[in-house]
Amino acid sequence: MGDTPIRIREDTHMSHSRSDVIVIGAGPYGLAAAAHLGAAGANIKVFGSPMSFWTEQMPKGMLLRSPWGASHISDPRWALTLDAYERGKGTPLSRPVPLGDFVAYGHWFQEQAVPEVDPRRIERIDALDDGLRVTLEDGESLDTRRVAVAAGISPFAYRPVEFAELPRDLATHSSEHADLASFAGRRVAVVGGGQSAFECAVLLYERGAQVELLMRAPRIRWVGRATRKGLLGHLLFHRTDVGPAFVSHLVARPRILRMQPGFVQRHALRRALAPGASLWLRPRSKGMPITTGRRITSVARAGEHVLLGLDDATSREVDHVLLATGYRVDVSRYGFLSPSIVASLRYADGYPVLRDGLESSVPGLHFLGAPAAHSFGPLVRFVSGTEFAARALTRSIVGKRAGTRDHGRDDRALEYRSAERQL
Ligand SMILES: Cc1cc2nc3c(=O)[nH]c(=O)nc-3n(C[C@H](O)[C@H](O)[C@H](O)COP(=O)(O)OP(=O)(O)OC[C@H]3O[C@@H](n4cnc5c(N)ncnc54)[C@H](O)[C@@H]3O)c2cc1C
Repeated sequence: MGDTPIRIREDTHMSHSRSDVIVIGAGPYGLAAAAHLGAAGANIKVFGSPMSFWTEQMPKGMLLRSPWGASHISDPRWALTLDAYERGKGTPLSRPVPLGDFVAYGHWFQEQAVPEVDPRRIERIDALDDGLRVTLEDGESLDTRRVAVAAGISPFAYRPVEFAELPRDLATHSSEHADLASFAGRRVAVVGGGQSAFECAVLLYERGAQVELLMRAPRIRWVGRATRKGLLGHLLFHRTDVGPAFVSHLVARPRILRMQPGFVQRHALRRALAPGASLWLRPRSKGMPITTGRRITSVARAGEHVLLGLDDATSREVDHVLLATGYRVDVSRYGFLSPSIVASLRYADGYPVLRDGLESSVPGLHFLGAPAAHSFGPLVRFVSGTEFAARALTRSIVGKRAGTRDHGRDDRALEYRSAERQL
């Protein structure tokens, strides 16, 4: 492959190997990529603040929406699963997994698999003739052949334009809160129809806010788990558990999914990402005001309050609007990509178009996590996609199936056969 080794500028030295990679991000994707690349013998450097998105941009008290079996961060030997963490801890974790426990698991994973994470922020990535230059917040720069961007979705938080004029004390995106307790006693409208909106509303309700959930969907789509148990559950749902019955098996095999006609891919995406709320939120939302099937038609500031007009001609006056309106991937919003990289990436709807190995049209620049979803489907938006992404990245860079777990699973054999056909 002829990779150029990482060169640290400013007279510092680092050992070289054929497969040097800089990983940006220490969330589930960055950590899994580093664990796989490291085990395969690549010389890696990882930057980021471990599990920071989960600690700083999700509400305290949240429970994971992904079930236990779909919440393991991948390592090549499956030695660092949630089960291993639970065993080592000596006390059972509850299910669904509480956010605090998942964060602690992520830190434990990092200490075991990726003990050296550099907390400095990446300021900029530039393309060179023969590689990439990464500049850190303190001005140090490193030259490398490959960069794996696993920087998450934080810059993609979607704030509908109607709310653009409202200041932060009147309207915020859900990602701006790590604790909703400060809203106790205040009137809060939560806007959105997905799990995040529902869970934020319930957490606010439980913390004594006067909350109303406003959603466009005509009814709440409860996402149940009963059918996921036992033999039937295994037949209907893949263990990665992204998408409804049967669809989840296709979503779990991104290379097969991407060979399907466009309408099949779009169907899988729509079904897998359809907004819904976990069934376990239902009893907790009893008595909480929920308005379905309504659009917000006007937003106005009324002194210290906000006036929302709805399409049924009613209005609401609230102290705060919490926008649980999701994320829209647009990698040009990663502030660290140089204008020339932004200009030379191939895009589809804001997503970079990626080839095998999750490599973009800028040679050596890989994207993991949600930005890979246009090319590899909805699996890579979730923790359970770390296995696919980390293996695909490692295979493309190191060129061998290092550390492959031998479970003799049909799905993996299928993926590898399909990958080999494409290589
Ligand atoms: C409210 C909410 C709940 C969710 N619940 C679940 C769930 O239950 N199960 C599930 O599977 N998925 C869930 N998700 C999706 C979840 O966000 C992703 O699965 C997961 O975070 C993806 O991991 P990641 O590594 O791509 O990104 P992140 O976890 O966001 O990590 C990004 C990393 O990049 C680093 N970084 C960013 N910019 C820079 C920079 N310039 N320099 C250096 N480092 C940088 C950060 O410090 C961080 O370490 C949820 C999402 C939301 C919003």
